[in-house]
Amino acid sequence: SRNLWQNNYRFYIKEIGEASAKRLKLERSLRKSIEKQELLVYYQPIVDMQTGSITGTEALVRWDHPEFGLLSPDNFIPLAHETGFIIDIGKWVLKQACLQTKLWHRAGYDSMSISVNISAIELDQSQLLNHIENILAETDLFPAALELEITESVLMHDAEASVRILQELKKMGIKIAVDDFGTGYSSLSYLKRFPIDILKIDRSFARDIVIDSDSSTIVTTIIALARSLGLSVLAEGVETKEQFDFLYQGQCDRAQGYLFSRPIGAENLFSLLRQPKTG
Ligand code: C2E
Ligand code: CA
Ligand code: CA
Ligand code: CA
Repeated sequence: SRNLWQNNYRFYIKEIGEASAKRLKLERSLRKSIEKQELLVYYQPIVDMQTGSITGTEALVRWDHPEFGLLSPDNFIPLAHETGFIIDIGKWVLKQACLQTKLWHRAGYDSMSISVNISAIELDQSQLLNHIENILAETDLFPAALELEITESVLMHDAEASVRILQELKKMGIKIAVDDFGTGYSSLSYLKRFPIDILKIDRSFARDIVIDSDSSTIVTTIIALARSLGLSVLAEGVETKEQFDFLYQGQCDRAQGYLFSRPIGAENLFSLLRQPKTG
């Protein structure tokens, strides 16, 4: 049995070795990923619940790694945070997303919104405002088309500086969405301090709407809360017709999820836009 233990131990050490070798590789190659044009932006449609039409998209970054293939953000966003490289990725994604959305506007889909995820580190950057202003100017996108998604956990930290930055963004006409809404553990008082426009209900609630009465109660309550605060409400992670029907009955404004489409490349999104609506 000692042998077995030793073997397991060796195996374990080998696994750790491989994992950290992969991490090291990823870390080294992440810095070059932008210049090597390995990053991609995927777009997931956001649908107006009343009309069923696509009114916008969320930009979601992907990394087409030469060795590991197409990586989803969970594989490299944490690493990008630790290394600070998230700042460059964020800038790049924002620019791509605005450029692409402007193309859709030019093609006649001229009210498409674009949602972009902003991390805590980006929100701490004093250059964020300048940078966003520049991108909007360069791409000639109207500010109200841009929705910045900030997770509830970031807003709950309630840094004075981020309140000011968000107020400036709001003055510019940009919309602010609370991402993963409902997963926070503390009070909702930040809703008063931040200039918020949109609540984006975390996908764990949509997932359980039909099977768990707590989840459906929470969703109904969030929609009522949004209504009474004059905010718009968007449900993410909608995968089934039953979930959609519940949200429709509950008068949720917009929805996003695999029921409509997974995140897809810009070309495919454009085809989807041109497809006649069904159902
Ligand atoms: P998120 O902002 O909550 O984005 C929604 C995630 O849910 C996406 O995962 C999307 O593919 C997934 N999703 C959408 N519809 C459904 C559905 O019906 N069912 C299920 N099970 N999942 C669905 P993705 O693309 O892997 O992104 C993961 C996270 O990575 C995002 O979560 C966001 O926090 C982060 N992320 C992605 N792109 C960026 C970026 O450019 N900047 C920053 N800072 N973070 C990003
Ligand atoms: Ca998001
Ligand atoms: Ca989310
Ligand atoms: Ca999330």
